[in-house]
Amino acid sequence: MDAFNFSSSPLEPERYREALGDPGAGGYASFEGWVRDHNDGRHVTRLEYEAFEALALKEGGRIVSDAIERFGVLRAASVHRIGSLAIGELAVWVGVSAAHRDEAFAACRYIIDEIKHRVPIWKKEYYVDGDSGWVNCERCAVAAHAHVEHAHGARAPDYSRQIALPEVGSAGQARLGAASVLVIGAGGLGGPVLQYLAAAGVGRLGIVDGDCVEASNLHRQPLYGTADIGQPKAAVAAAQLARLNPEVRCEVIAEAASQGNVDDLVRGYDLVVECTDNLRAKFLVNDAVVRAGKPAVFASIYQYEGQLQTYRPEPHSACLRCVWPEAPRDGLVGNCAEAGVLGPVPGTLGAMQAMQALKLILGLDDARPSGVVIVDLLSLDTRVIRAPRDPRCDHGPDARPERSAVEPLELDFTTLDEARAAGYELVDIREASERRFDRPGTQIDLHLPLSELLDGRAAFPVAGRQLIVCAHGVRSLALAEHLRAQGRDGVWSMRGGLAGLSP
Ligand SMILES: [Zn+2]
Repeated sequence: MDAFNFSSSPLEPERYREALGDPGAGGYASFEGWVRDHNDGRHVTRLEYEAFEALALKEGGRIVSDAIERFGVLRAASVHRIGSLAIGELAVWVGVSAAHRDEAFAACRYIIDEIKHRVPIWKKEYYVDGDSGWVNCERCAVAAHAHVEHAHGARAPDYSRQIALPEVGSAGQARLGAASVLVIGAGGLGGPVLQYLAAAGVGRLGIVDGDCVEASNLHRQPLYGTADIGQPKAAVAAAQLARLNPEVRCEVIAEAASQGNVDDLVRGYDLVVECTDNLRAKFLVNDAVVRAGKPAVFASIYQYEGQLQTYRPEPHSACLRCVWPEAPRDGLVGNCAEAGVLGPVPGTLGAMQAMQALKLILGLDDARPSGVVIVDLLSLDTRVIRAPRDPRCDHGPDARPERSAVEPLELDFTTLDEARAAGYELVDIREASERRFDRPGTQIDLHLPLSELLDGRAAFPVAGRQLIVCAHGVRSLALAEHLRAQGRDGVWSMRGGLAGLSP
């Protein structure tokens, strides 16, 4: 094995280690560098390594032979991965065998440090928000910095025309800024949903779509243009929304919702807007929002007609399965490709979904008996079919065993002081950016952002009586359920979150 090498296939540390075997060796030290999921506060989804190979091999070889000479070790080697790497993959391996451990450790440390500084290797990181950037080189570091500066310096939309509505006001605007919405499907329905929610200043949007833009999409998906054909929809949508409103954080999930990812996706947002064109996905999302206790807005279209349904995690709200107990299998009704569609039909229904989402966030949803709204865009007739919760449908909060097994998970308070007086320790699990809108008197000292609890940077207290608080009581409920399921009693969620407190 050469002293320093590149590999475009996964590294094999076991094999490299064997090559360092020496009868005179009493110790072996190794360093493994792995691809991690974050850098500089940004969530990384994968990365790519590229090198000026000829130069890099020469410089890497010099570093390894320097180390052998300098520390008097027996053998040393390093292999660096190039190409596309996933999170958790081994990116660089260094191994040293020596008579004694001290020099093995020292040489190993020297080699990895020098490689980082001297070998011309570039790393391109891909972020959740669809952005990517080369890092680890002077020129790119400057470029990345400039990009951030630009984003921060960009002007935000002026929301005065919506703040002027008495039902919105600045408190409503703050609610929008603190809210997160998962939009599943970035096509004819999802496009207007994303544009209106971003324009309104919804703080965080998740964009789930595994498709690329096709020429036949454009007549009903004017979020995209001909130049985007062949590009992943989720990433293009995020770029468009960044132009519309740089204040909105977009998270790109460039894959379809599936059994494997839907629960994790739904858990990370306050509200779900389902915008796919297939029934299988709609029922998949329905079941996930019911499990997670999240509100969701569904829509579907067929030729000139559209249907809209809102699910609320409340005992009387019907889910899709209440309305369609014999869930039709995918393919039973035509999709756009087969049935034909005029662009404004999904556009209208998407705009209605956006309106429903804003109402749910702003607390303007009248929560009247649930039903399905049917809009015929040819006759302009609108009908509402009342569809109450089907008692035979086993969806819903009171059907979930973890709720009924122990005492209530959600508690109602009108002020934070009332909760404190009742003996609860308050825990704010919102992200730091959401706390900047806090009114005086609503500050909570113990701040454990959900993102940090999830990735282990923060730990939830192991004992006590904690009342978990978030913006709307959705994330706090999910966390309380999670902790209870892990056997941690003494945790509750404040129903309605901070938005539900009396002003
Ligand atoms: Zn149901």
